[in-house]
Amino acid sequence: MTLLDGDRKVDFTDEELAELNEEFEHLPASKIIQWAVDTFSPHLCMTASMTDAVLIDLAVKVDPGIEVVFIDTGYHFPETLATVEEVRRHYGLNLRMMTVARQEEALWEADPENCCSAVKVGQLDRALAGKQAWMSGLRRVEAANRVTTPTIVRDLRGLVKINPIVTWSDADVQGYIADHGVPVNPLTQQGYPSIGCMPCTTPVAEGEDARSGRWRDSDKTECGLHVM
Ligand code: SF4
Repeated sequence: MTLLDGDRKVDFTDEELAELNEEFEHLPASKIIQWAVDTFSPHLCMTASMTDAVLIDLAVKVDPGIEVVFIDTGYHFPETLATVEEVRRHYGLNLRMMTVARQEEALWEADPENCCSAVKVGQLDRALAGKQAWMSGLRRVEAANRVTTPTIVRDLRGLVKINPIVTWSDADVQGYIADHGVPVNPLTQQGYPSIGCMPCTTPVAEGEDARSGRWRDSDKTECGLHVM
């Protein structure tokens, strides 16, 4: 794989990515973010779901100007949009809103796979144009299909994707929020540990996976943003 670092080209082989994964498994998230910024900036951004601002808090402490991408699908909860604004003001964020024109018909109802593909993945592709790497707040404990998620991986586009808090438990996240006064989406206190679009997100019961409220009663478990 060849990446641009300014005008300099940086190559990562599969073996090198495997070595980085071994190293990152035991590094604090802030060190992983520092590595990502040092290696890829300014061709680096991060995505945010605005469930909480933990990864944002960590990232802006390393690079206050880091580009944060939020995909406004047109179907978010009002609480999520209010959280976007709160987080933007709190951190003076370099926020890039990817706004989608609202669909005439409820595609999410007829064909959620195509809806996510058109609305979310299409906007992410646009946001990542010209980038060489991106970061996300994916964590292994969020769902059964995420337990083997690596810290660093090559995505379907050939870009490097870094998941700095992939090893964090729910307690780690809650502890960080409390210790650092991190803004959170108020829905997290109302039974929504994982928050997506309003038509496709329900609260979860005690003991359920955090993501079990997403596309409930369907086989769909991912929107496609994090498919490798
Ligand atoms: S989560 Fe639902 S509303 Fe949002 S893009 Fe996917 S199918 Fe459409």
